Amino acid sequence: MTSPSAALTDGREVIVVGGGQAGLAIGYLLAQQGRDFTILEAADAPAAAWRARWDSLRLFTPVRYDSLPGLAFPGDPDSYPGRHDVVAYLTDYVQRFELPVEFNSRVRSVRPRDGGFRVELADRTYEADQVVVATGPFQVPFTPAIAADLSAEVAQLHSSDYRSPSDLPPGPALVVGGGNTGFQIAAELARSREVQLAVGARQTPLPQRFLGRDLFRYLEATGLMNKTVTSRIGQRMKDRETLIGSSPRRARRQGIKILPRATGARGSTMTFADGTEVAVDAVIWATGFRLDHSFVELPVFDARGQVEHERGVTARPGLYFLGLPWQHTRGSALLGWVKDDAEFIAQRIDAFALSPAAAGAPPSPLLSGPPAR
Ligand SMILES: Cc1cc2nc3c(=O)[nH]c(=O)nc-3n(C[C@H](O)[C@H](O)[C@H](O)COP(=O)(O)OP(=O)(O)OC[C@H]3O[C@@H](n4cnc5c(N)ncnc54)[C@H](O)[C@@H]3O)c2cc1C
Repeated sequence: MTSPSAALTDGREVIVVGGGQAGLAIGYLLAQQGRDFTILEAADAPAAAWRARWDSLRLFTPVRYDSLPGLAFPGDPDSYPGRHDVVAYLTDYVQRFELPVEFNSRVRSVRPRDGGFRVELADRTYEADQVVVATGPFQVPFTPAIAADLSAEVAQLHSSDYRSPSDLPPGPALVVGGGNTGFQIAAELARSREVQLAVGARQTPLPQRFLGRDLFRYLEATGLMNKTVTSRIGQRMKDRETLIGSSPRRARRQGIKILPRATGARGSTMTFADGTEVAVDAVIWATGFRLDHSFVELPVFDARGQVEHERGVTARPGLYFLGLPWQHTRGSALLGWVKDDAEFIAQRIDAFALSPAAAGAPPSPLLSGPPAR
């Protein structure tokens, strides 16, 4: 069935969906291959995800680990950029390499077409031989159902809507979520008000720096950043989230009261796993995100809706994902390491373009890269 939106149809060898760091990294490599491609980005400017994060955010990866292929991230290699620096870097990246990013271009569906794909937007359609989905590891803000049981007088924000303490009314605040985001926002708020932090699953705290060196230098030196998701140690790392530069002990020193998991809410009272009840005026839900690939209308998902792939290569020839958390290693969704997966996918795209039949064969051991460590 042809939709009215299909009125304008254009063709490309490759369509990249999403123009964040993953989409730009693969874009750079496709440009080097001389491919006819375009990057479709829903937002109206580069680095949309970074624009939408809180003002004081400091990266946990130092400058030396923040570069995309072809362009060093500027600054002291041992310094930690703010989110504005990432916005500037990615904006420069698009301009410097004249990457073909089409803004205000949200993809509504990716569907199969004879030997290729139809990529539909509200006002136009592309036909493509190959598609890379790079729509990000943190897409749809997740808030637990108990949020709906709080009364309207309680100010509530998801962390993705939080920019600075002035977003909250004066007075005590509760932050729910014990990941890096929850700890960092709680620390910022604690400078000006009383803060409680509800921590459900405890994450392993790691120091940002140790003996004068950044954590990631140790992770690189010990080979941990190269451990693949299929290796035993990779599996363990994947299941164990880490807090970088924050810890419950440090938070307590900052005056933050740590509570256990938030289990219920009624009116303006929240209940916690140990039975404690706390009256709240303002709550920040630092409770993470969910992936949403519902626009990809191809059978490449398992029963739980997770993409079935090997290092981003799906069983549908010519369809790839890039930037998924632990797509291949811990670094897959990080600025400084996404290039490894991008290079891998770019090679597959090149092979497919040369010989679709051979490259479209089901994932082979070649896909797994170096042997599992
Ligand atoms: C709070 C926080 C702190 C982080 N700190 C660090 C750090 O210190 N160091 C580090 O390396 N990493 C960090 N990360 C992780 C990671 O680098 C970022 O999440 C990064 O934004 C991921 O890049 P991406 O390109 O994969 O996805 P995104 O940046 O999310 O880009 C995806 C793009 O796709 C677009 N899009 C989505 N759906 C569609 C559609 N249907 N059609 C068209 N476009 C679409 C979006 O508008 C977006 O621009 C952090 C993440 C968070 C949440």
